[in-house]
Amino acid sequence: QEEEKALSGRRLKRKKEMQKKMKTGTFDSMGFSVPVLKAIKRNGYRLPTPIQRKAMPHILQGVDVIGMARTGSGKTAAFVIPLIESFPCPACWAAVWILMIVQIRRQASPSSTVLVGGDAMEAQFAELALNPDIIVATPGRLLHHLEEVTGLSLRAVEYAVLDEADRLFEMGFMEQIREILSKMGEGRQTLLFSATLPRSLADFASAGLNAPVLVRLDAER
Ligand code: ADP
Ligand code: MG
Repeated sequence: QEEEKALSGRRLKRKKEMQKKMKTGTFDSMGFSVPVLKAIKRNGYRLPTPIQRKAMPHILQGVDVIGMARTGSGKTAAFVIPLIESFPCPACWAAVWILMIVQIRRQASPSSTVLVGGDAMEAQFAELALNPDIIVATPGRLLHHLEEVTGLSLRAVEYAVLDEADRLFEMGFMEQIREILSKMGEGRQTLLFSATLPRSLADFASAGLNAPVLVRLDAER
């Protein structure tokens, strides 16, 4: 409870700082910290792509976002970079902070766990026991773990990302995702990214997200 209060206080302060710093155009003008800007440069990104330019400021402000842009438009960095910026000091990473539900693609980073269906459960149990900061998971396997692992809780999740949401929808995962989201705390920030936004998905998003900002790039690059 105490911790929650401290977190929302920090977020509020950051939101105000971001609003002040924010203009448009470059990564530098978006209010990222120096270490994050250096990492962006090291990665070879000179300018934000249109979806990044439009979505990142909202994500940094802590609001829920639905981001729609074609495949290859840079959606991954659009949510990963602001979330990295939002990470508190590693010493504060006591609980499960970020939950990313992605379809199929595997990603790994320090203190993260990838829970993909088809892989052995035992190795995943061991990794979960280490209390990872980031969980990248397919919906079915994550639910399986929530049923099997006593003490695994998503209550402390601060950020939930549904990447490739249209694919998740097509593959019939929405009921499972609804259940997963229901196990998280109300205060989380939820981000949904997709290449297309059919009506059914938009309806799902407006129910599962909290007053989401829609950032939609239909034809632009
Ligand atoms: P999407 O999820 O929209 O299909 P990705 O996130 O996979 O797209 O990004 C597609 C490619 O663009 C990746 O190789 C990524 O590294 C690259 N990319 C992303 N943002 C930038 C940027 N600002 N500048 C240059 N390349 C970028
Ligand atoms: Mg993608």
